[in-house]
Amino acid sequence: MITTTNPATGETIAEYETLDANGIDSKLETAIRAYRDWRTSPVEKRSQVLDKLGALYEDRTEELAKLAVTEMGKPITQARSEVEKCASLFRYLAKAGPDMLESEFWDLADGGRAEGRWLPQGPVLAVMPWNFPYWQVARFLAPTIMAGNVGVLKHASIVQGVAAKIEELTLEAGAPEGLFQNLCVSSDPIGDVIADSRIVAATLTGSEGAGSAVAQQAGKNLKKVVLELGGSDPFIVMPSADLDQAVKDAVTARIQNNGQSCICGKRTIVHADIYDDFADRFTKALKNLEIGDPMDEDTELGPLSSEDQRDTVLDQVEKAKEEGCTLLFGAEKLDRPGAWMSAGLLTDVELGSDTGTDEIFGPVGQIYRAKDIDEATTIANAIPFGLGSAVWTTDEDEQAHFANAIEAGMTTFNAVNGSKIEAPFGGIKRSGFGRELSHHGLHEFMNLKTLVHP
Ligand code: NAP
Repeated sequence: MITTTNPATGETIAEYETLDANGIDSKLETAIRAYRDWRTSPVEKRSQVLDKLGALYEDRTEELAKLAVTEMGKPITQARSEVEKCASLFRYLAKAGPDMLESEFWDLADGGRAEGRWLPQGPVLAVMPWNFPYWQVARFLAPTIMAGNVGVLKHASIVQGVAAKIEELTLEAGAPEGLFQNLCVSSDPIGDVIADSRIVAATLTGSEGAGSAVAQQAGKNLKKVVLELGGSDPFIVMPSADLDQAVKDAVTARIQNNGQSCICGKRTIVHADIYDDFADRFTKALKNLEIGDPMDEDTELGPLSSEDQRDTVLDQVEKAKEEGCTLLFGAEKLDRPGAWMSAGLLTDVELGSDTGTDEIFGPVGQIYRAKDIDEATTIANAIPFGLGSAVWTTDEDEQAHFANAIEAGMTTFNAVNGSKIEAPFGGIKRSGFGRELSHHGLHEFMNLKTLVHP
């Protein structure tokens, strides 16, 4: 049994019966049966399902957004944006996907011709987190539909309502039974699901620990895996930056999704020439955040996703203090039912320390002073992760430097870093491997079959 809890109130929302071994077996059988038909489905049919899914997400934005807020506590305005982004992705891939499935051709030295044809591979398992409960799944579901694969989802336990809703909408969009199924299970049986011969590959978005467990099992069974793991992204501000906008965006980058995004700007690195001014304004803005009911339109910071998650962050702050960091303000438990805490800011963080290298998945920032561009780069790269990054500079030489020097899967200039529906997304180092979105994401679980015509 999985029980979901509203983190804004601490109240139980619902209880879900988990699948036993027979239940899982029956879902996998349905998946493989659906694949036998879906793999040869006309590409126009795949586009139709995606288009309809986009329309359903648009029509039901409010209902879907409220469900996510209730289960994991993100502010309602951000929940709506998440649902709308999914709709855009479904619509985009419905239109752009068919071209991405076109074959590639090569003329051969012996006079023949080779064709690279993109073919589906079968049922893929997706293990997903709660923080963007629709978006993380959409990044998997949209290419699954377009590729001619089928998908089974193990969603995070705390968002089982969202998981069931995604399956319901996919069926309503005209997907055949079994194209996309929600497995209501804890993580315990996931190793067996990966090992099952009906599953051809796995993708996981989540923590390093879960990623490592899934990758080990996939490796043991010689199955491909894509991992989208944690991060501790740098947000670098150089002297040429528009400071008003940079401060505003640094706050958004740190506290978006109540501080629980893999690509939050978790470490703010500021050039010494503007450090004092920036730090002063950044501190004031973080202190003035509107904390409140996540259903309220004005709320900027809601509860964390669970009391456990909140306590983990508070423990990390205690450890930071023991390591000699200075807590400039905040990061306090709020005295009300639910998973509440205030935003906070750490400084004097030593590179290589636990605080300097661990991901803090909550609204507690870190601010660093860099004497020059080289030191800013060193601080940016002094982590085991390599997911996203943002750099504020209008100097073209500096942009060229950071574009190559930051060890990450993505760098955004003069804006909050975020995934784009048209462009590849993913990490390096301990942030994972493989890409989602764009034709790179679509092809991850496809067979590039070479056909040779002498
Ligand atoms: P998590 O604890 O790793 O959970 C993610 C998913 O993995 C959940 O469905 C979870 O199920 C499952 N899981 C946990 N342990 C497992 C195991 N041993 N074997 C199989 N499945 C397992 O992560 P989270 O707390 O939900 O999410 C936060 C993390 O995700 C952060 O590190 C964040 O940076 C990362 N993230 C990365 C990206 C990206 O695109 N790179 C995006 C968003 C989040 P249960 O819920 O049942 O435990």
